Amino acid sequence: MRRFAYLIPKSLDEAVSLVEAHGEKARYVAGGTDVLVKIREGKMAPDYLVSLRHIPGLGGIHRDPHTGELRIGALTTHRMLECSVEIRRHFPILHDAVSNIGSVQIRNVATIGGNLVNAVPSADGAVPLIALDARVRLYGTKGEREVELLHFFLGPGQTVLERGEILTEILVPPLPPRTGGAYIKWARREAMELPILGVGVLLTVEEGGRRCTRARVALGVAAPTPMRALEAERFLEGKVLDAEVLEEAGRIAAEESRVRDSVRGAAWYRREMVRVLVRRMGQKCLARIGEA
Ligand SMILES: Cc1cc2nc3c(=O)[nH]c(=O)nc-3n(C[C@H](O)[C@H](O)[C@H](O)COP(=O)(O)OP(=O)(O)OC[C@H]3O[C@@H](n4cnc5c(N)ncnc54)[C@H](O)[C@@H]3O)c2cc1C
Repeated sequence: MRRFAYLIPKSLDEAVSLVEAHGEKARYVAGGTDVLVKIREGKMAPDYLVSLRHIPGLGGIHRDPHTGELRIGALTTHRMLECSVEIRRHFPILHDAVSNIGSVQIRNVATIGGNLVNAVPSADGAVPLIALDARVRLYGTKGEREVELLHFFLGPGQTVLERGEILTEILVPPLPPRTGGAYIKWARREAMELPILGVGVLLTVEEGGRRCTRARVALGVAAPTPMRALEAERFLEGKVLDAEVLEEAGRIAAEESRVRDSVRGAAWYRREMVRVLVRRMGQKCLARIGEA
């Protein structure tokens, strides 16, 4: 394996200035489950790996008990999210996703921030967070800024991050009462595998009924970047949610998707599965609202 220097900054400013100083030769590393694989495969050849692991304040899960807002540090591992009672209880759509990433060994080191910055269309963390209207906080030489996660991705492997910028935190706004969410990673077998599709649905219904007041339908591997099926969302809002309505929402989402053929699945199959999985996740949302 290619040799590189491993740098351990103790603050955000130190990390940013190290990457600024070394330019293209330096890369940040969090859990390293993407970076080290790429180095080994010769797809990346940095001279310096700048670790984010020893910078205080980049980890942790905080849910404000009064407002319900959730803040997740970028260095939080998938396993920490999976084991969090707050995430399981209040954000099951995110729990569905993180508890099925790689293996326990991978989840123990891989971070949610690394998953987003890696920006592959199949990133399991992105879809539920987009359905949850998450924003990301970024820190760089020009200071701090916030971006809606939906607009963070520019293309496969590309984000709005500028040279040296660090993703520090993920912010999830409070959810309205009577909201249910569900995510499914659709893969060929129940093993460590990248998804053929990722489908996340989040539905809010009015008090005492099933009329939908707010809908989010987010899709992964259905376009070059994770996307929202906006037409399907508009169709759902205002409707009384029954099997027929959910079926139609699935059909609309399938039409909207920009799926393509790949080694993992044909476009026609992906489109068909968007239809089926949006309906199934919609039903799961309703079941979860009923259980709450
Ligand atoms: C065996 C295996 C199975 C996997 N299974 C899945 C799966 O099922 N689903 C899935 O979505 N992914 C999967 N992955 C991919 C990977 O584990 C995840 O994308 C993981 O979350 C990446 O996080 P990391 O901390 O390891 O990132 P790293 O490898 O440390 O970094 C990834 C990229 O992000 C940059 N970076 C990291 N953190 C930051 C930050 N805070 N700010 C700025 N830049 C940053 C790095 O420079 C690098 O370019 C798998 C990987 C392996 C090896």
